Amino acid sequence: MSIDKSGKWWIGSGSEDIKEYLETYSAGGYKSSDFRSAKCTCGSDIFYLFADDDEGCAKRTCISCGMSHFICDSEEY
Ligand SMILES: [Zn+2]
Repeated sequence: MSIDKSGKWWIGSGSEDIKEYLETYSAGGYKSSDFRSAKCTCGSDIFYLFADDDEGCAKRTCISCGMSHFICDSEEY
């Protein structure tokens, strides 16, 4: 797994690249300490990610069945 950082956006080659991205993204603030791959109850592991930098919350929505799930304590915000 590796991340192509040559363009405007980082492009990963697999889901494990998300861990490196989150560690870099959070290094200057509220540091991430854990990473787990997510899997929907329908079996899919591909999601849309909705994130709000200002509120510090995120939600994932399964592209297969449309089920949404708040990440960690995001629902409180
Ligand atoms: Zn699903």
